[in-house]
Amino acid sequence: MPDPARPGTGAAVESQPVDSENEESVGGEGRGILVVVSGPSGAGKTSVVQALAERVTFHFSVSWTTREQRPGERDGVDYVFVDRSEFEEAIRQEGFLEWAEYSGHLYGTPRPQVLTHLDRGEHVLLDIENDGAGQVKRSYPEAMLIFILPPSMEELEQRLRGRGDTTDGDITKRLAVADRQIADARDNYDFLVTNSEVGAAADEIVSILAAAASR
Ligand code: 5GP
Repeated sequence: MPDPARPGTGAAVESQPVDSENEESVGGEGRGILVVVSGPSGAGKTSVVQALAERVTFHFSVSWTTREQRPGERDGVDYVFVDRSEFEEAIRQEGFLEWAEYSGHLYGTPRPQVLTHLDRGEHVLLDIENDGAGQVKRSYPEAMLIFILPPSMEELEQRLRGRGDTTDGDITKRLAVADRQIADARDNYDFLVTNSEVGAAADEIVSILAAAASR
C-alpha cells in the first residue's frame, strides 16, 4: 500500500534563492506560512511562482496525480505519478491535506510533509486549483490563498493563443473555466494579484507574506 510520506513524495524541492543577499526576510520564528497559489491557465502562475522562489525560500509540496507524466517531468519531483487505485487508497488512509478531480484526473497534496515543514518554521507553497485551495482553507484557516489574475480577459486570450498549441475550442473552454475560477477567487481567496509583470507580481506577494508574518 502506498504511503503518502514515502520517499519520493517527500523529495523536497526547496527553492534556492538565486542570490541569497536578495532574499527577503519573511518571518523567521514560529510556524511557517502555508501559501496556496492558484490561477487560470495562461495567467503566468508558473513564472510568478518561480520569481517568488528567487525572493523567498519555500518548501514546494510535491503533489500526487493520476495524470500521464509529460515529457521532461520527473517522478517524485514535479509530481508523484500514481494510478487511480493507489490514489484512492491514499484518500482512504486520509493521506491528503486536500485532493480534487481536475480535467478527469486526480490531484492531491500529501498531508504529512506539509505539516512537518510548517512545524519546522519553513514556509510551504502549494500550487493547486480552486477546489483544493478551498479545502486547505477549511482545514487550515491560517493558510494564505493567493490567486494570480491576468491583466484582462483579452490579454489572457492573447496569451493562450500565443502558445500556439491550443485550438479555438480549447481556448473557449479555458476562458470559460478561467471566468469561473476568477469568480470563485473573488469570494474565497485572501488576495488577488494581477500579473501584468512577473517581477512586480512576485514582489507584491512578498509584501503580502511579510505583512502576514508580522501579525
Ligand atoms: P497540470 O496537470 O497542468 O500540471 O495541473 C493542472 C491543475 O492541477 C493546475 O491548476 C494545478 O495547480 C493543479 N494541481 C496540481 N497539483 C494539485 C494538487 O495537489 N491538488 C489540487 N487540488 N490541484 C493541483
